[in-house]
Amino acid sequence: MSKTKNETLLVRAKNAAISQGTRDAGEASSIRNKRSNSALWWDVSWNPVTGCTPVSEGCAHCYAKEIYHRFYRYTSFDKVMLRPERLSKIDRSKPKVIFVDSASDLFHEEVPFGFISEVFSVMQRNPLHTFVVLTKRARRMVEYFRWASENNPEWWLFYPLENVWMGVTAENQDRANERIPLLLRTPARHRFVSVEPMLGEVDISEWAPATLEKNPVQVGARTNVSIELVICGGESGPGARVMRPEWARALHDQCVEAQVPFFFKQWGEWVPDMIDDSVMVRSRSTGIGRTLDGVEWNELPWKKPVVKTVLEFEGEQLELKALENHPVYTESAKVKE
Ligand code: SF4
Repeated sequence: MSKTKNETLLVRAKNAAISQGTRDAGEASSIRNKRSNSALWWDVSWNPVTGCTPVSEGCAHCYAKEIYHRFYRYTSFDKVMLRPERLSKIDRSKPKVIFVDSASDLFHEEVPFGFISEVFSVMQRNPLHTFVVLTKRARRMVEYFRWASENNPEWWLFYPLENVWMGVTAENQDRANERIPLLLRTPARHRFVSVEPMLGEVDISEWAPATLEKNPVQVGARTNVSIELVICGGESGPGARVMRPEWARALHDQCVEAQVPFFFKQWGEWVPDMIDDSVMVRSRSTGIGRTLDGVEWNELPWKKPVVKTVLEFEGEQLELKALENHPVYTESAKVKE
């Protein structure tokens, strides 16, 4: 719906006030990214598998395919390749948020369960890092975990891992209905949903924490599992489809209502016009950045601080590090005199 000039000025003034409030709350990262058009929710990506094939509407303009062809011009992206040499290539210098298989889908049908187990084993051995696994193949993810728990009698001793977030893409309501219930049945300590590229309205209230308290989902010995983060973003690149502002707003409002953290990654190729938000214009011609109604939403619960503990062991002082609230310590080192 188009707005009169006065209404537009009012909206802008309101947005400016909200933005100022965000600054006052000390969200330094928001200010730093003010002019950027997208923000990454990970520090580094790690691709023990490369290549993939489309599985749903969200794959039509696959970003991973575009990146892949920049590096591997003579191999087709459709060829799924295991890269075991990368299993040992994890930088241990400091804690990072690692996007697992940004250039593929770890649960692709051509990735053997045994190899997926090796990937999880690396994640288990690196508790200082936070690993984020995002898939569109939720059913195979559930099948994998069933297989893993049946084939390793000690599986429940170590898994699910505290430092691993499992997520599904829900680009529209159909995919949300299909994948989120499977995500909730996946044995994981942390779960998230990525609504990117957002191709239509997505209602997640059925799986919000308050709803699940009334109808708990049972996974092993745990109940009341829920979604701990929603990521939202539009599509970019040639042929990109539009994400309507009212869809993003409604998703954001549901997250506020359900007290689920919300991360607005980007508008993508198309942004709402500043005067009339029923009109979408190309993002590079505006300075809108990645704000939604004047505010950047950067709520990423996996960014946890590292805590250090000093213990005395056999007459020596040892410094142990772990992520906050993480039960596993790592990287012990002698405290220097
Ligand atoms: S699942 Fe992901 S990586 Fe695979 S084709 Fe679709 S968008 Fe690309």
